[in-house]
Amino acid sequence: MSDKKIRVRIATSPTGEPHVGTAYIALFNYCFAKANGGEFILRIEDTDQTRSTRESEESIYKALSWLGFKWSEGPDVGGPCAPYRQSERTDIYKKHSDILLNNGSAYRCFCSSERLDEMRKKLIAEKKNFFYDGLCRNLSREESDRRAAAGESYVVRMAIPRDEGAVTSFHDEIRQKAIELAHTEIDDQILMKADGFPTYHLANVVDDHLMSISHVIRAEEWITSTPKHVLLYKAFGWEAPKFAHVSLLRNADKSKVSKRKNPVSLNWFRAAGYTKEAITNFLGLMGYNSGSENERFTIEDISRDFTIDRISTSAPIFDLQKLNVLNEEYIRKYSVDKYIEYLSETTAYAAQYLRPILGEIQSRHKISQDFQFWARIFFTPGIAYSKEAFAIKEMDKPSLEKALKGAADALDESKAVKPDEFEKAIAGHRDSSGIKMGSYMMALRVALTGSSTSLPLNDVMAMLGRDRTIMRLKEANAFVRNNIK
Ligand code: GLU
Repeated sequence: MSDKKIRVRIATSPTGEPHVGTAYIALFNYCFAKANGGEFILRIEDTDQTRSTRESEESIYKALSWLGFKWSEGPDVGGPCAPYRQSERTDIYKKHSDILLNNGSAYRCFCSSERLDEMRKKLIAEKKNFFYDGLCRNLSREESDRRAAAGESYVVRMAIPRDEGAVTSFHDEIRQKAIELAHTEIDDQILMKADGFPTYHLANVVDDHLMSISHVIRAEEWITSTPKHVLLYKAFGWEAPKFAHVSLLRNADKSKVSKRKNPVSLNWFRAAGYTKEAITNFLGLMGYNSGSENERFTIEDISRDFTIDRISTSAPIFDLQKLNVLNEEYIRKYSVDKYIEYLSETTAYAAQYLRPILGEIQSRHKISQDFQFWARIFFTPGIAYSKEAFAIKEMDKPSLEKALKGAADALDESKAVKPDEFEKAIAGHRDSSGIKMGSYMMALRVALTGSSTSLPLNDVMAMLGRDRTIMRLKEANAFVRNNIK
């Protein structure tokens, strides 16, 4: 290991709810920093201004703190390398993009979106990936400066070295081998967008360098970006950090964990009553070989003798049943006082989570357990369906299947988020299906809630979100197919 001070980071993009994968990567970074007396830093990568929100950023802080992670530097706590929010560092990226323009490692590209679209279409027709043809790479610096000064819009692209047979490689600290990428596979990457914001590649490398990051421990999905980053470090004349790519969490069918198959939001897990102890233990179990038979451990336990080469190279399966078992175990071990604290905290958190529809729940409130009654369908990963519930007036098996499949397909094509958008998304299929509106909606109600009484259906769909709504419709359809005559 180099004698450089250990500094690692979690560099999340604040788009949507905090993802369980973020906690998974945070765990390894945090334990590595703790085991080596290093620093764990939180950076917000919000250069995609169309998708990033402050609300999401806040919920990342809350979720990671809840799980027990503490960062010594970050947008919320400051630090010597502030600002830690990329949208506040645009002048730094501009300065660094100029360095690359000046030393010939990057060039301005003035190609219009029409020209690029043409190129894209042509390459798609030839079944090839998009690859910029390098037209603007041949512009003289004078012409490039003149056009930029005249106010023409441009992006800055990286001039990937095109020498015959050129390859860039790096050593992966988990895989313990060199990973290489031929330059023929690397397009001249955009580093600065026309709006003056950097792309991930430039911002990530500049920040990791300026924040003295010693080890980049991140998800495997970035592994093909790393050679590009290594080229950028070279172009700046900087020493690259060490790199470790952690295998992605998988569903039981080996596909990458996604909202369509499993709950992935840390907010959801918290509201659903999962304990932080169970979640961190579960994440550790999935990806870390603790070196002991004992499968019960805390973040502190893992931190004690954490080494990067003990991170698993195989794709860990996200098995919700296993998490449920752990969760039960932890709860049963709580003292009664701790259990009371857990119950009240979880209920309050669940109520906050359901805030958008809390008014509907409140208006049905008669006795104290009513909140739990109405809330439960949002926090169960799947519904236990019964044949009786699907015995709906005028709905035989083909009509049930038609309604459930048609609604799922319609939602798949929509971008519904708000209740009325859900209504609009399914109205077309429903009204042309030849099925009575009430019966059609009842089939959906049973599919989403397991019951014939529920909160307003459009609210239910909006609260579940499009992915989980589609998932439930599909699960219900499978139930109907296999269980209804
Ligand atoms: N912003 C990237 C993410 O959200 C960071 C990847 C990295 O760690 O380099 O995962």
